[in-house]
Amino acid sequence: MSIVVPVYNEQLNIEKFYTEATKAVQNLDMEYEIIFVDDGSRDATPLLLSRLTQQDEHVRALLLARNFGHQLAITCGMDHARGDAIVTMDGDLQHPPEMIPQLVQYWREGYDVVQTIRKDTKGVGFLKRQTSKWYYRLLNALSPVHIAPGGSDFRLIDKRVLATFKLFREHDRFIRGMIDDIGYKQKTVDFVAPPRFAGKSKFSVRKMLHFALDGIMAYSKIPLRISFYAGLVSAFLSVLIILHALYSSAVGSAAPGWTTVIVVICILGALQLMFIGIVGEYIGRIFEEVKQRPLYWLRAELGGRGEPEERNR
Ligand code: UDP
Ligand code: MG
Repeated sequence: MSIVVPVYNEQLNIEKFYTEATKAVQNLDMEYEIIFVDDGSRDATPLLLSRLTQQDEHVRALLLARNFGHQLAITCGMDHARGDAIVTMDGDLQHPPEMIPQLVQYWREGYDVVQTIRKDTKGVGFLKRQTSKWYYRLLNALSPVHIAPGGSDFRLIDKRVLATFKLFREHDRFIRGMIDDIGYKQKTVDFVAPPRFAGKSKFSVRKMLHFALDGIMAYSKIPLRISFYAGLVSAFLSVLIILHALYSSAVGSAAPGWTTVIVVICILGALQLMFIGIVGEYIGRIFEEVKQRPLYWLRAELGGRGEPEERNR
Protein backbone atom coordinates (compact mmCIF):
# COMPACT_ATOMS: atom_id res chain seq x y z
CA MET A 1 0.00 0.00 0.00
CA SER A 2 1.11 3.54 -0.69
CA ILE A 3 0.08 6.55 1.33
CA VAL A 4 0.51 9.79 -0.60
CA VAL A 5 0.70 12.99 1.41
CA PRO A 6 1.20 16.45 -0.12
CA VAL A 7 2.80 18.82 2.35
CA TYR A 8 3.43 22.53 2.13
CA ASN A 9 5.03 24.26 5.10
CA GLU A 10 3.83 21.57 7.49
CA GLN A 11 6.84 21.38 9.79
CA LEU A 12 4.61 21.22 12.87
CA ASN A 13 2.53 18.33 11.54
CA ILE A 14 4.95 15.99 9.78
CA GLU A 15 6.10 14.00 12.76
CA LYS A 16 2.69 13.63 14.31
CA PHE A 17 1.29 12.55 10.94
CA TYR A 18 4.09 10.06 10.44
CA THR A 19 3.52 8.48 13.86
CA GLU A 20 -0.26 8.26 13.48
CA ALA A 21 -0.15 6.94 9.94
CA THR A 22 2.45 4.34 10.81
CA LYS A 23 0.38 3.21 13.75
CA ALA A 24 -2.66 2.88 11.52
CA VAL A 25 -1.00 0.78 8.83
CA GLN A 26 1.29 -1.40 10.90
CA ASN A 27 -1.52 -3.65 12.10
CA LEU A 28 -2.78 -4.25 8.59
CA ASP A 29 -0.27 -6.89 7.72
CA MET A 30 0.57 -5.26 4.40
CA GLU A 31 3.69 -3.91 2.83
CA TYR A 32 3.48 -0.14 2.86
CA GLU A 33 5.24 3.05 1.89
CA ILE A 34 4.51 6.60 2.96
CA ILE A 35 5.25 9.05 0.17
CA PHE A 36 5.52 12.66 1.25
CA VAL A 37 5.46 15.18 -1.57
CA ASP A 38 6.98 18.44 -0.48
CA ASP A 39 5.27 21.15 -2.49
CA GLY A 40 8.12 23.68 -2.37
CA SER A 41 7.95 24.35 1.38
CA ARG A 42 9.95 27.23 2.77
CA ASP A 43 10.12 25.95 6.34
CA ALA A 44 11.86 22.93 7.84
CA THR A 45 9.55 20.42 6.11
CA PRO A 46 12.18 19.09 3.64
CA LEU A 47 14.71 18.71 6.43
CA LEU A 48 12.27 16.73 8.58
CA LEU A 49 11.37 14.59 5.59
CA SER A 50 14.95 13.79 4.81
CA ARG A 51 15.46 12.78 8.44
CA LEU A 52 12.42 10.49 8.33
CA THR A 53 13.60 8.78 5.16
CA GLN A 54 16.87 7.97 6.93
CA GLN A 55 15.13 6.64 10.03
CA ASP A 56 12.50 4.52 8.35
CA GLU A 57 12.75 2.79 5.01
CA HIS A 58 8.98 2.92 4.60
CA VAL A 59 9.20 6.67 4.09
CA ARG A 60 9.92 8.24 0.72
CA ALA A 61 10.07 11.95 0.07
CA LEU A 62 9.64 13.68 -3.27
CA LEU A 63 10.68 17.29 -3.20
CA LEU A 64 9.07 19.41 -5.88
CA ALA A 65 11.16 22.21 -7.34
CA ARG A 66 8.63 24.86 -6.36
CA ASN A 67 5.06 25.21 -5.16
CA PHE A 68 2.82 23.53 -7.74
CA GLY A 69 -0.33 23.43 -5.65
CA HIS A 70 -2.16 20.71 -3.79
CA GLN A 71 -3.62 18.91 -6.82
CA LEU A 72 -0.34 18.60 -8.69
CA ALA A 73 1.52 17.56 -5.55
CA ILE A 74 -0.97 14.71 -5.07
CA THR A 75 -0.58 13.79 -8.72
CA CYS A 76 3.20 13.63 -8.38
CA GLY A 77 2.91 11.30 -5.39
CA MET A 78 0.41 9.10 -7.21
CA ASP A 79 2.68 8.86 -10.24
CA HIS A 80 5.43 7.47 -8.04
CA ALA A 81 3.31 5.13 -5.90
CA ARG A 82 4.14 1.43 -6.12
CA GLY A 83 1.46 -0.11 -3.89
CA ASP A 84 -1.54 -2.24 -4.86
CA ALA A 85 -3.75 0.30 -3.15
CA ILE A 86 -3.02 4.02 -2.97
CA VAL A 87 -4.36 6.29 -0.25
CA THR A 88 -4.13 10.06 -0.70
CA MET A 89 -4.57 12.30 2.31
CA ASP A 90 -3.61 15.69 3.78
CA GLY A 91 -0.68 15.96 6.13
CA ASP A 92 -2.38 18.18 8.69
CA LEU A 93 -4.35 15.32 10.32
CA GLN A 94 -7.67 16.66 9.06
CA HIS A 95 -7.95 13.34 7.28
CA PRO A 96 -7.79 10.96 10.23
CA PRO A 97 -5.13 8.26 9.69
CA GLU A 98 -7.10 5.93 11.93
CA MET A 99 -9.64 5.63 9.09
CA ILE A 100 -7.12 3.95 6.81
CA PRO A 101 -7.95 0.39 7.98
CA GLN A 102 -11.62 1.04 7.19
CA LEU A 103 -10.75 2.15 3.64
CA VAL A 104 -8.54 -0.89 3.21
CA GLN A 105 -11.37 -3.11 4.44
CA TYR A 106 -13.68 -1.89 1.65
CA TRP A 107 -10.88 -2.31 -0.86
CA ARG A 108 -10.42 -5.90 0.27
CA GLU A 109 -14.15 -6.42 -0.22
CA GLY A 110 -13.65 -5.49 -3.84
CA TYR A 111 -14.17 -1.74 -4.15
CA ASP A 112 -11.74 0.04 -6.47
CA VAL A 113 -12.33 3.55 -5.17
CA VAL A 114 -13.17 4.30 -1.56
CA GLN A 115 -14.01 7.99 -1.46
CA THR A 116 -14.48 9.84 1.80
CA ILE A 117 -17.08 12.55 2.22
CA ARG A 118 -16.51 15.25 4.79
CA LYS A 119 -19.81 15.64 6.63
CA ASP A 120 -18.59 18.43 8.83
CA THR A 121 -15.42 20.26 9.68
CA LYS A 122 -14.90 21.21 13.24
CA GLY A 123 -13.92 24.82 13.70
CA VAL A 124 -15.06 26.01 10.26
CA GLY A 125 -17.25 29.10 10.07
CA PHE A 126 -20.78 29.19 8.77
CA LEU A 127 -19.73 31.20 5.70
CA LYS A 128 -17.12 28.73 4.44
CA ARG A 129 -19.48 25.84 5.06
CA GLN A 130 -22.35 27.48 3.20
CA THR A 131 -20.29 28.66 0.21
CA SER A 132 -18.83 25.18 -0.12
CA LYS A 133 -22.35 23.73 -0.26
CA TRP A 134 -23.50 26.23 -2.91
CA TYR A 135 -20.36 25.65 -4.90
CA TYR A 136 -20.96 21.91 -5.18
CA ARG A 137 -24.56 22.51 -6.16
CA LEU A 138 -23.45 24.87 -8.94
CA LEU A 139 -20.70 22.51 -10.07
CA ASN A 140 -23.05 19.56 -10.28
CA ALA A 141 -25.60 21.59 -12.20
CA LEU A 142 -23.01 22.77 -14.70
CA SER A 143 -21.02 19.64 -15.36
CA PRO A 144 -21.64 16.01 -16.25
CA VAL A 145 -19.69 14.61 -13.29
CA HIS A 146 -21.31 14.23 -9.93
CA ILE A 147 -19.33 15.32 -6.91
CA ALA A 148 -20.90 14.87 -3.52
CA PRO A 149 -20.77 18.04 -1.41
CA GLY A 150 -17.88 17.63 1.00
CA GLY A 151 -15.99 15.33 -1.36
CA SER A 152 -12.36 15.46 -0.31
CA ASP A 153 -9.04 14.27 -1.62
CA PHE A 154 -8.90 11.64 1.09
CA ARG A 155 -9.50 8.38 -0.72
CA LEU A 156 -8.17 4.97 -1.50
CA ILE A 157 -7.84 3.78 -5.08
CA ASP A 158 -6.80 0.46 -6.48
CA LYS A 159 -3.69 0.29 -8.64
CA ARG A 160 -5.71 -0.26 -11.80
CA VAL A 161 -7.64 2.95 -11.14
CA LEU A 162 -4.26 4.60 -10.73
CA ALA A 163 -3.12 3.19 -14.06
CA THR A 164 -6.12 4.86 -15.71
CA PHE A 165 -5.65 8.07 -13.77
CA LYS A 166 -2.11 8.31 -15.06
CA LEU A 167 -3.46 8.56 -18.61
CA PHE A 168 -5.16 11.86 -17.75
CA ARG A 169 -2.47 14.46 -18.16
CA GLU A 170 -4.39 17.73 -18.13
CA HIS A 171 -2.75 20.62 -16.30
CA ASP A 172 -5.64 22.30 -14.54
CA ARG A 173 -6.96 19.37 -12.67
CA PHE A 174 -9.75 18.73 -10.25
CA ILE A 175 -8.94 15.25 -9.03
CA ARG A 176 -12.33 14.71 -7.38
CA GLY A 177 -14.07 15.12 -10.71
CA MET A 178 -11.54 12.97 -12.54
CA ILE A 179 -11.92 10.10 -10.09
CA ASP A 180 -15.70 10.24 -10.34
CA ASP A 181 -15.43 10.30 -14.12
CA ILE A 182 -13.02 7.36 -14.21
CA GLY A 183 -15.65 5.06 -12.74
CA TYR A 184 -14.90 1.50 -11.57
CA LYS A 185 -16.55 0.20 -8.43
CA GLN A 186 -16.84 3.11 -6.02
CA LYS A 187 -17.86 3.37 -2.40
CA THR A 188 -18.24 6.44 -0.21
CA VAL A 189 -17.51 6.74 3.49
CA ASP A 190 -18.51 9.70 5.69
CA PHE A 191 -16.25 11.36 8.18
CA VAL A 192 -16.03 14.45 10.34
CA ALA A 193 -12.83 16.40 9.82
CA PRO A 194 -11.15 17.50 13.03
CA PRO A 195 -9.49 20.92 13.09
CA ARG A 196 -5.94 21.13 11.78
CA PHE A 197 -3.42 19.66 14.21
CA ALA A 198 -1.09 22.69 13.92
CA GLY A 199 -0.43 25.62 11.60
CA LYS A 200 -2.98 27.36 9.42
CA SER A 201 -4.73 26.49 6.20
CA LYS A 202 -2.52 26.76 3.13
CA PHE A 203 -5.45 27.74 0.98
CA SER A 204 -5.76 31.50 0.66
CA VAL A 205 -9.04 32.87 -0.67
CA ARG A 206 -7.28 33.41 -4.01
CA LYS A 207 -6.12 29.76 -4.20
CA MET A 208 -9.58 28.61 -3.16
CA LEU A 209 -11.29 30.62 -5.91
CA HIS A 210 -8.81 29.42 -8.48
CA PHE A 211 -9.41 25.83 -7.42
CA ALA A 212 -13.18 26.34 -7.52
CA LEU A 213 -12.92 27.74 -11.04
CA ASP A 214 -10.73 24.82 -12.12
CA GLY A 215 -13.46 22.46 -10.97
CA ILE A 216 -16.02 24.12 -13.20
CA MET A 217 -13.78 24.83 -16.18
CA ALA A 218 -12.25 21.34 -16.23
CA TYR A 219 -15.59 19.68 -16.70
CA SER A 220 -18.04 22.15 -18.06
CA LYS A 221 -18.40 23.72 -21.46
CA ILE A 222 -21.51 25.55 -20.37
CA PRO A 223 -19.78 28.91 -19.79
CA LEU A 224 -18.71 28.78 -23.44
CA ARG A 225 -22.28 28.22 -24.53
CA ILE A 226 -23.76 31.09 -22.56
CA SER A 227 -23.07 33.46 -25.41
CA PHE A 228 -24.93 31.28 -27.88
CA TYR A 229 -28.00 31.14 -25.67
CA ALA A 230 -27.78 34.86 -24.98
CA GLY A 231 -27.70 35.31 -28.75
CA LEU A 232 -30.87 33.25 -29.16
CA VAL A 233 -32.66 35.22 -26.47
CA SER A 234 -31.59 38.54 -27.90
CA ALA A 235 -32.59 37.41 -31.41
CA PHE A 236 -36.05 36.70 -30.06
CA LEU A 237 -36.24 40.05 -28.27
CA SER A 238 -34.92 41.77 -31.38
CA VAL A 239 -37.82 40.47 -33.42
CA LEU A 240 -40.24 42.02 -30.92
CA ILE A 241 -38.37 45.32 -30.87
CA ILE A 242 -38.08 45.40 -34.65
CA LEU A 243 -41.83 44.78 -35.00
CA HIS A 244 -42.48 47.57 -32.54
CA ALA A 245 -40.11 49.91 -34.40
CA LEU A 246 -41.69 49.13 -37.77
CA TYR A 247 -45.14 49.63 -36.32
CA SER A 248 -44.18 53.01 -34.79
CA SER A 249 -42.68 54.11 -38.05
CA ALA A 250 -45.79 53.01 -40.00
CA VAL A 251 -48.16 54.95 -37.75
CA GLY A 252 -45.73 57.86 -37.88
CA SER A 253 -44.98 58.13 -34.14
CA ALA A 254 -41.24 57.44 -34.50
CA ALA A 255 -38.56 60.12 -34.80
CA PRO A 256 -36.90 60.09 -38.26
CA GLY A 257 -34.02 57.60 -38.45
CA TRP A 258 -34.89 55.91 -35.14
CA THR A 259 -36.38 52.81 -36.75
CA THR A 260 -33.35 52.09 -38.91
CA VAL A 261 -30.95 52.51 -35.98
CA ILE A 262 -32.95 50.19 -33.74
CA VAL A 263 -33.33 47.51 -36.40
CA VAL A 264 -29.63 47.55 -37.25
CA ILE A 265 -28.51 47.45 -33.60
CA CYS A 266 -30.81 44.55 -32.82
CA ILE A 267 -29.81 42.46 -35.79
CA LEU A 268 -26.09 43.03 -35.32
CA GLY A 269 -26.21 42.47 -31.56
CA ALA A 270 -27.99 39.16 -31.88
CA LEU A 271 -25.75 38.01 -34.73
CA GLN A 272 -22.61 38.86 -32.83
CA LEU A 273 -23.63 37.00 -29.72
CA MET A 274 -24.61 33.96 -31.73
CA PHE A 275 -21.36 33.92 -33.65
CA ILE A 276 -19.33 34.28 -30.48
CA GLY A 277 -21.30 31.27 -29.25
CA ILE A 278 -20.39 29.30 -32.37
CA VAL A 279 -16.73 30.20 -31.92
CA GLY A 280 -17.18 29.06 -28.30
CA GLU A 281 -18.38 25.66 -29.53
CA TYR A 282 -15.18 25.21 -31.50
CA ILE A 283 -13.08 26.36 -28.59
CA GLY A 284 -14.96 23.84 -26.46
CA ARG A 285 -13.93 21.10 -28.84
CA ILE A 286 -10.33 22.25 -28.94
CA PHE A 287 -10.43 22.30 -25.15
CA GLU A 288 -11.53 18.66 -25.10
CA GLU A 289 -8.78 17.66 -27.51
CA VAL A 290 -5.90 19.45 -25.86
CA LYS A 291 -6.64 17.61 -22.66
CA GLN A 292 -5.37 14.50 -24.49
CA ARG A 293 -7.58 12.26 -22.47
CA PRO A 294 -7.79 8.58 -23.25
CA LEU A 295 -10.84 7.67 -25.32
CA TYR A 296 -11.82 4.72 -23.15
CA TRP A 297 -10.47 2.49 -20.44
CA LEU A 298 -11.40 -1.02 -19.45
CA ARG A 299 -12.53 -2.26 -16.10
CA ALA A 300 -11.63 -5.84 -16.88
CA GLU A 301 -10.72 -8.02 -19.80
CA LEU A 302 -12.06 -11.53 -19.63
CA GLY A 303 -10.87 -14.60 -21.47
CA GLY A 304 -7.68 -14.88 -23.50
CA ARG A 305 -4.77 -13.63 -21.50
CA GLY A 306 -6.74 -10.92 -19.70
CA GLU A 307 -6.43 -10.37 -16.02
CA PRO A 308 -9.27 -11.91 -14.01
CA GLU A 309 -11.45 -9.21 -12.51
CA GLU A 310 -11.34 -10.45 -8.94
CA ARG A 311 -7.78 -10.72 -7.86
CA ASN A 312 -6.54 -11.63 -4.42
CA ARG A 313 -6.27 -8.58 -2.28
N1 UDP B 1 -0.87 21.74 0.30
C1 UDP B 1 0.07 21.58 -0.72
N2 UDP B 1 0.29 22.62 -1.58
C2 UDP B 1 -0.38 23.81 -1.50
C3 UDP B 1 -1.38 23.95 -0.49
C4 UDP B 1 -1.60 22.89 0.39
O1 UDP B 1 0.70 20.53 -0.83
O2 UDP B 1 -0.12 24.70 -2.30
C5 UDP B 1 -1.11 20.61 1.23
C6 UDP B 1 -1.10 20.99 2.71
O3 UDP B 1 0.21 20.91 3.24
C7 UDP B 1 -2.02 19.95 3.32
C8 UDP B 1 -3.04 19.72 2.21
O4 UDP B 1 -2.42 20.14 1.00
O5 UDP B 1 -1.36 18.73 3.60
C9 UDP B 1 -4.35 20.46 2.44
O6 UDP B 1 -4.11 21.81 2.65
P1 UDP B 1 -4.83 22.64 3.80
O7 UDP B 1 -4.94 21.80 5.03
O8 UDP B 1 -4.10 23.93 3.94
O9 UDP B 1 -6.26 22.89 3.16
P2 UDP B 1 -7.67 22.96 3.95
O10 UDP B 1 -7.75 21.73 4.80
O11 UDP B 1 -7.63 24.21 4.74
O12 UDP B 1 -8.69 22.98 2.85
MG1 MG C 1 -6.37 21.02 6.11
